[in-house]
Formats: sequence, C-alpha cells, structure tokens
Amino acid sequence: MSQLPTVGHLIDGKIVTTGTRAQDVFNPATGKAEKRVLLASKTTVEEAIASAQAAYPAWRNTPALKRARVMGNLKVLLEQHSDELCALITAEHGKVLSDAAGELQRGIENVEYASYAPELLKGEHSKNVGPAMDSWSEFQPLGVTAGITPFNFPAMVPLWMWPMAVACGNTFILKPSERDPSSTLRIAELALEAGLPPGVLNVVNGDKEAVDTLLTDPRVKAVSFVGSTPIAEYIYTTGCAHGKRVQALGGAKNHAVVMPDADIANAVSALMGAAYGSCGERCMAIPLVVAIGDATADAVVAALTVEIAKMKVGPGTDASSDMGPLVTKPHYEKVKGYVDQGEAEGATLVVDGRGVKVAGHEDGYFLGPCLFDHVEPGMVIYQEEIFGPVLGVMRVKTLQEAMDLIDAHEYGNGTCIFTRDGEAARYFTDNILVGMVGVNVPLPVPVAYHSFGGWKRSLFGDLHAYGPDAVRFYTKRKTITQRWPSAGVREGAVFSFPSSR
Ligand code: NAD
Repeated sequence: MSQLPTVGHLIDGKIVTTGTRAQDVFNPATGKAEKRVLLASKTTVEEAIASAQAAYPAWRNTPALKRARVMGNLKVLLEQHSDELCALITAEHGKVLSDAAGELQRGIENVEYASYAPELLKGEHSKNVGPAMDSWSEFQPLGVTAGITPFNFPAMVPLWMWPMAVACGNTFILKPSERDPSSTLRIAELALEAGLPPGVLNVVNGDKEAVDTLLTDPRVKAVSFVGSTPIAEYIYTTGCAHGKRVQALGGAKNHAVVMPDADIANAVSALMGAAYGSCGERCMAIPLVVAIGDATADAVVAALTVEIAKMKVGPGTDASSDMGPLVTKPHYEKVKGYVDQGEAEGATLVVDGRGVKVAGHEDGYFLGPCLFDHVEPGMVIYQEEIFGPVLGVMRVKTLQEAMDLIDAHEYGNGTCIFTRDGEAARYFTDNILVGMVGVNVPLPVPVAYHSFGGWKRSLFGDLHAYGPDAVRFYTKRKTITQRWPSAGVREGAVFSFPSSR
C-alpha cells in the first residue's frame, strides 16, 4: 500500500478518502510521485449526485442575495489563500508561480462576477400585454449540474463553471483533472468555509468511469466540459443523447498574423509569452505565426531566436524561471515526438529545445522552447494541437491568404493580428471564422463579464463559458402570463388565437 498522501473526494461536505482505485500524481519538475488521487467508482459518483439532489430544494429557495454573499466570502478566502493555492498548482501542473497567480486571479474574477447573480437573474417583465394581463420571464435553476475540467487550469476553469451555477440556485458536481487535482479540491473546501451548504458543491476525482456516470445519470440536468476535442465531442454527443444540456469546449490551434507594418519588436515580445508561457499548455496559446511576406517572416524569426536564447527554463518554484516543465512524462514524450515529426516533414528547426537539461531536476519533464520556420499546411505539426513549447512560422503573401488558412483549420478558438493598419484589423476581426480575436493582443481571453468560447471544432454547443452565457446555460427560462379580471364581469368564450389586435 502506497504511503503517499491521498487526494480524495468532497461529498456532502466531507472529504472521502476511501476507495479501491487510485493513481499517482507527479511533480513534473522532479518526475516524482508525491500524492495518490482516488478514482471514483460509479457508486461513489452516485453518492455525490444523491447529495447534490438532496441539497437542491433548500438551495434553490435560498434568497439569491444570500447565495451571492457566499461568493463574496469565497473571493476573500481565495485571496487570503493565494500563496497556498499557487504552490499546489505549481507542484502538480509545473507552471511558474507567477503564471499560477495569474490563473488564480482570473478564477477569482469569475467568483466576483457570480456574486452579481441577483442582478443578472432579475428577468424580464411586461405590464398590460393584454387587458388586465401582465407577463414576465424568470430564469429558474436546472437542478443538479456537473462540470468536467482539464489539467491546464486546475483553479481557473472549474471557477468558470460552478460559482455561477450555484449562484443561480443549482447544485454541482465537479470532476477535475486527475493529473493535478489538489488545488481544485482545496478551493472546494474553502467554498464550504465561505458558507456553501454541504452537498451544494461536490467534487469527485476520477476518470472515464466517473465521467460516464455523470453523462448518463438522469438526475444530472446539464454538463459543462473543457478539454481536448475528441473528448469534448464524446461528452457532447453522449450527454445530449441522455437528454442533458451540454456545452463542451475543445482544443485549439491559434494563429497570430503578423503584417508587414507591425511593430516587430513588440509583436515578438507578445508572441514569446503567448507561445511559451505555461510551456504552451494553454488553449489560447499561440503555436503558429503567419507572417505576411518573406521580409516580415525573416525579421520575426531572427527576433524570436534572439529572445528564445534569453529564456530560462527551470522549476516553476524558482522565481527566475520563465518556463517550467510539461505536465507528465507521456505528454513530454508526445510533444517531443511532434518536434521529431516536424523535422521529418521538412520544416526548418531553427531552435531545438530537445536537449535542455535542468541541473538538479534531471528527471523533470523539461523541454526547451522550439521554433520551426517554413511550416506548411500539409504538415501534421500544422494540423494537430501540440500543446507544448513549439512555435511554427508560416510564410504567406497576403492577409487574405492568411485568413483563408485560418478559416480552413478545424479549430477556431483564438487568433490575433499584429498591425498598425486599422482597416486591415477591422476586416480581419469582422470576417475571420474564430470565436475570440485579438488586435495587437496575443491572448484575447475575455474578461469574466464577457463569455469565452471558440468556433468550429473548438466548441460543441451553443452557449460559451462564463460571463452572461453562463447565466443562460445554468438556467431555464419560464414565462408566466397572469390575468386578474375584474370580479363579476362575465366573459364569453373566444375561439380565435389570442392576440393583441
Ligand atoms: P482531456 O480531454 O484529456 O481531459 C479533460 C477531462 O476529460 C479530464 O477531466 C479527464 O479526466 C476527462 N477525460 C479524459 N479522457 C476521457 C474519456 N475517454 N472519457 C471521459 N472523460 C475523459 O484534456 P486535458 O489534456 O486535461 O487538457 C488539455 C486539453 O484541453 C487541450 O486540448 C486544450 O486545448 C483543451 N482546453 C480547452 C480549453 C477551451 O476553453 N477551449 C481550455 C483549456 C483546455
């Protein structure tokens, strides 16, 4: 029996550490297993669903302002526990501490937005839609809702989901990534401390068995998912086939267009963070640059090469590190395999990060920044999401050629253009087939009071994540029409369809 600390579940307000299946959680900077995470059985998930179902009636009828106050309390607790949470994120994900702090802050902003739920839930009212007749629409909670989240933002992505879901009066079951579960679970404990009643938020750690139970149990009314596209598509089709409302956000391959008139030095600074920040493990990362004209491409490649040489790869706990390790050994092997493949496909490997070694961390999953030039649309390294520190430069002649390339790609999560030409920027933002677009902004991640989502195979479903769309996703509209005719007035039957004619 392993002596490693166990990461359990949170069910009905209590931490559960019993179960037969478990897997190791590794520190990517050392390659050592430091914890074991339980993998919930169907029965365990059903216990969580039962708890959420039991908590629902009282929570639904709790005044919206009282529910919102819990979110206000949680915001304060998250700020107070920021160092502890960032340390947990970095120990299991590998990202540098300043990046973990950025992720947590974005999550906190979603908690803050959820605390405005009473305002967002006020509904719509019309007086005198007919004689003595008023009508209003209200937004009622769905019941038990669920979320399934990826490894790359263990604090932020869950906070996109459950705070607004519960602020709207639902109860929630969260299934975090089994690769870095500790910060997610700790935040759920803080939610209890903030005043969330037991059962309103349950966390089950696990794998496909837990996910499939959530997707098929009739008590679960809606599922939010963020992860890779093949799993997103599976979640969407399976959840919909079982009568649930589903939003499933998938993978990405985001292109940055660099126009000949761009400020190349500033564009390259922006690209460095967007390509190599968080080791490229962001769905809004920029793994592709599309340069307009060879002169632009030559200048970008030259400047990137200089900047890459200044980067420091090291453990995320070292304040001088710019980039930490990849999340797991299999993911490291996969990303390295793409670099091998890019070379074999004929792209020019300008900077090769495969030989990077970090002293004292020889078993960590460190891959240095890699830069390819002359990437072509037919290459696998162009078509597939690599999710690592690998940036490819492509060369085209016109903006329209760049846009045709982006539009033809299966993913449509994010994109950006670097230019000083307002007309070109406006044409790009207006016409490009991508959900989130930046102009001289490399990571156009919407703030908490807008919604987040891609187009094409980056999102299955209609509503985007967080922001105003989350209020719609986690509620059902009910429209009530009410009439109080004057007492004693006799009215005859009317057989024509009611109208205000
Ligand atoms: P993943 O798809 O492997 O896992 C996501 C979740 O699905 C995890 O909780 C995992 O346990 C579960 N899961 C995995 N395999 C499953 C299966 N066969 N059946 C049921 N459930 C399963 O994704 P990941 O590697 O954790 O995260 C990286 C991916 O997430 C990338 O593709 C990235 O682009 C994407 N992502 C997208 C967004 C977005 O907003 N579009 C945001 C963050 C990450």
